[in-house]
Amino acid sequence: MSDRIIGAIEAGGTKMVCAIGHENGEVLDRASFPTLAPAETVPAMIDYFADKNIEALGLAAFGPVAVNPADPRYGRILNTPKIAWQNYDFMGDLVRGCGVPVGIDTDVNGACLGELTFGAAKGLTDVIYITVGTGIGVGVCIGGQMLHGMLHPEAGHVLIERAPGDDVPSTCHCHTRCLEGIAAGPAVQLRLGENNNVLSADPEVLEQEAGYLAQGLMTYILAYSPQRIILGGGVPDHTPELLPLVRTKTLELLNGYLSTPELEDIDSYIVAPSLDGNQGVMGALELGRRALEAAQK
Ligand code: ZN
Repeated sequence: MSDRIIGAIEAGGTKMVCAIGHENGEVLDRASFPTLAPAETVPAMIDYFADKNIEALGLAAFGPVAVNPADPRYGRILNTPKIAWQNYDFMGDLVRGCGVPVGIDTDVNGACLGELTFGAAKGLTDVIYITVGTGIGVGVCIGGQMLHGMLHPEAGHVLIERAPGDDVPSTCHCHTRCLEGIAAGPAVQLRLGENNNVLSADPEVLEQEAGYLAQGLMTYILAYSPQRIILGGGVPDHTPELLPLVRTKTLELLNGYLSTPELEDIDSYIVAPSLDGNQGVMGALELGRRALEAAQK
C-alpha cells in the first residue's frame, strides 16, 4: 500500500462532494460545491484539486452517464433533466483540467463499489446497492466489476404490482407503475399526505412501502443473484422499521423458490450501508485507484 493521493468526486444533483484520500479508503480532506452549470461548478472543482498532488481521480456522477469506454459519448452526462449538463463531457474536462487519469461510473455504482471495497460487502464479488431517496437507483457489481453493458442498469424502473386500491399517481414521467415512481421519496410523501413527513408514523404506508421495495428486491435477487444486498438512501436511513419489514416481505414473495445459505441468514443478506454516508466518496476513491492502475498497465 503506497501513500499515493487519489481524488474523488461524488457528483449529485444539488452538490458536488470533492475529496482526496488514500487508496485504502482513508479520506484526508473534503469540500462541497453547489451543482450549478458546468461552466461555474467544474472550474471550482478543478481548482480544489490543483494543489493536492492527486495521481488519479474517480468520478461517481448522477446519470444517465456514458460509462462504457467503447461508447463515443464515453464520460458524458446524457439525457438529464438538468439542461446545462445534457451531453456535457464531464470526464473529458476533468482529464484536461486535472491532468490525471479519471475513472467514471454512476453515483449508485460508486456507492456499491465503496461498500464492496471498504464496507458491508467487503470480500464479496456479486453485490447490489439500492438507494431509495428522491429516486431509486441500483448499483450492480458482478464478479468484482461494476455492471455496465449498453449503458448501466436502471433497475429502479422495473415494473411492480400496485397494492389493491393504490391509485396514487406515479412520480416517474415515463412509467405508471415502476418502483421509483411508486416507492421513491416523493411518492412516499404523496402517500403520507401534507401533514406528515415521517414514514414510521404511518404503519399502513410503511407496510405498503416495504412491500413495493420487496418486489424490486425479488426481481434483483432472481436476475442478478447477488451475494448481498445493501439498502440505502434517505427513505430507509430515516425509517429504521423498514429494513426488517423488507426482509420479511422479500422472503414471502420468494415463497421458498430459492434455497441458499445467504437467504437463510436474511439479516446478513439484506443490510444497511456501513460507511456513515461515505460510501459514495470512498467508492469514487476506488474508481480513481482503478483508473490509475489501468493507466499504468
Ligand atoms: Zn420509471
